[in-house]
Amino acid sequence: MEKILEVENLHVTFTTYGGTVKAVRGVDFHLNEGETLAIVGESGCGKSVTSNAIMRLIPDPPGKITNGTILFKGENLAALSEKKMRSIRGVDISMIFQDPMTALNPTLTIGTQLMEGLQEHRNVSGKEARKKAIEMMDLVGIPNPEERLKQYPHQFSGGMRQRIVIAIALICEPDLLIADEPTTALDVTIQAQILELFEKIQDTTGVSIILITHDLGVVAKIADRIAVMYAGKIIETGTKREIFYKPQHPYTQGLLNSVPRLDLAEELLTPIDGTPPDLFSPPDACPFAARCPYVMEVCDKVYPAKTELSGSHRVNCWLQDDRAKQLIAVK
Ligand code: SF4
Repeated sequence: MEKILEVENLHVTFTTYGGTVKAVRGVDFHLNEGETLAIVGESGCGKSVTSNAIMRLIPDPPGKITNGTILFKGENLAALSEKKMRSIRGVDISMIFQDPMTALNPTLTIGTQLMEGLQEHRNVSGKEARKKAIEMMDLVGIPNPEERLKQYPHQFSGGMRQRIVIAIALICEPDLLIADEPTTALDVTIQAQILELFEKIQDTTGVSIILITHDLGVVAKIADRIAVMYAGKIIETGTKREIFYKPQHPYTQGLLNSVPRLDLAEELLTPIDGTPPDLFSPPDACPFAARCPYVMEVCDKVYPAKTELSGSHRVNCWLQDDRAKQLIAVK
């Protein structure tokens, strides 16, 4: 499979009065054409900052991409001018933000908001733009699209607004869609409908998707591969099956154990004790050491190297490193 995106050694910082926050600390991952990669982790782990960095939406100052490359179809986005990025954003790469209630302009009709990106970037006539807008509304399941184009956002429910936001993101036929917590603000039945819509869109258009979420239920439904982030680093990646059935990093295991399960409704949830490290001065060694039930001496001293468990499954944990295994065996 062709790689559409390759992120290597990405570092993003934010300068504040209190010091420098190291929000993303050497992130590496890739996305294949036509697949869905979910980036998961708790709030503040750097997943949204990573997606904003790909879109080059990090406000500079206070934010800065201090290192790394973001290769999109062979072009390093991290090194492009703002003018060039403007021609890529919304056209080749689109983003869906968390809250459909605030993502739309309340003073413009849905039709205007759908058509403006197309007219700006694709140089099409008003008639063609309207035809495409109706097609997109149809694709995302808005009934009676010709009439609905004339309406304003307040005339749509939350779920319908999220469908419109998705239609706007897709109208220029991007190759890459980044969805940042796209179902967080929606109730569960609408969430399920939006997830089904993502699957339908991918089947119809072949778009590659990065899904940013803390919700493992969402991941289980639509992801092909999963990258788990913790304290600004990706600590485990694998296929959905590898991460759900054979998680190897204690943090990934903790995340899965803290998900409520219907078949274990009588049992108490197992939380991950402690809190993530302070990203003003994160540890150079394993950032999960303070919370890890398996912590060893080496974990507090040296950051674990990447261990390849299969062609698709990688983990940064000393428990999986042959050198540590030998040491444990000697002891
Ligand atoms: Fe736990 Fe050590 Fe693995 Fe970190 S490297 S997750 S502290 S066992």
